[in-house]
Amino acid sequence: MQPSTLAVPGVQTLTPYIPGKPIGELERELGLRHIVKLASNENPLGPSPLALEAAARVLPELHLYPDGGGFELKATLARTLGVNPEQITLGNGSNDVLELVARVFLCGEASAVFSEHAFAVYPILTQATGARALVAPAHDGSRGPHHGHDLEAMTRAIRPDTRVVFIANPNNPTGTYLGKFELENFLRSLPEQVIPVVDEAYFEYVRKPDYPDALTLLSTIPNLIVTRTFSKAYGLAGLRVGYSVSSPAMADLLNRVRQPFNVNAPALEAARAALGDVEHLVRTVRLNDAGLSVLTKALTQRGLQVIPSVGNFITFDAGQPSGPVYAALLREGVIVRPIGNYGLPNHLRVTVGTEDENQAFLGALDRVLMA
Ligand SMILES: *Cc1c(COP(=O)(O)O)cnc(C)c1O
Repeated sequence: MQPSTLAVPGVQTLTPYIPGKPIGELERELGLRHIVKLASNENPLGPSPLALEAAARVLPELHLYPDGGGFELKATLARTLGVNPEQITLGNGSNDVLELVARVFLCGEASAVFSEHAFAVYPILTQATGARALVAPAHDGSRGPHHGHDLEAMTRAIRPDTRVVFIANPNNPTGTYLGKFELENFLRSLPEQVIPVVDEAYFEYVRKPDYPDALTLLSTIPNLIVTRTFSKAYGLAGLRVGYSVSSPAMADLLNRVRQPFNVNAPALEAARAALGDVEHLVRTVRLNDAGLSVLTKALTQRGLQVIPSVGNFITFDAGQPSGPVYAALLREGVIVRPIGNYGLPNHLRVTVGTEDENQAFLGALDRVLMA
């Protein structure tokens, strides 16, 4: 018997997540060196030195299990965010927390709502539980940012069996965001059996006055779950730490299905130290602001349509199927991300890098588009 016929129905037809190509893989394939990877929205400055020291201090004790309750990290997070530790759920990346949400609230008799072009993990988690994915069309540009979440369409997509609605703010890969007024109205209008998950993976990067901090909505939206991560602005993607903030009752439910030691010991310590290095975060955000405007201008000057982004990445229309452009950029030693799997077959997503990396990308793009 084929194993695939034995898999649960959702998994039989599931397409796995496609990660950015690792540097080592491109090195092996093309024998290239000095590769520029702008494919996974990683921090080009790397982790905070304080986080590295903290992780290293734990290494002699790796024979011990980590603190499964994450007491110290939760305490530091709670102080930093102005919430109670009982509201926090730690995850092996925020992806892990999203999975806990799916396991607690989704099953074959339920559905989840999310937007077209939303983060690729939402459909995967939904389908794996056997729940139905209800995909709301994104904005067409007439009433909101083209390709961004259309909250009216998302409201219309909700059915009586809908248990979860995933909202990425800002969204990856489009870089579009929802303002405070519209997000708050949407969340208030949800039927009470729908759990809203606001994914703020890029929260620290956003510099718009009308961008909402969803934590401020927890007191009025009782079932709200807000997720954040140390993978992006904090530069700790390799360690895998993220978290959610919710009501204590919601955190209790997520905790029931959580692996007892889902966050490793170096990750717990590094994340805590990273929260203490505000200067590194400020440098990270400044570098990103500058790079975002340089790349936006440069791409626009080349006649390419850019989706205005508030994150640490930019998605643009290559004006042709993006697969061959992506492949040609690889041969130039530059890794970006084709996003045909997001329903955008002509678009590429590029992470904002250092000044040198951004210039290397633009130089390579020029050579590729001239050819
Ligand atoms: C990168 C990303 C995440 C999660 O990353 P983790 O490394 O698992 O914390 C979640 N949501 C969005 C929208 C992302 O882009």
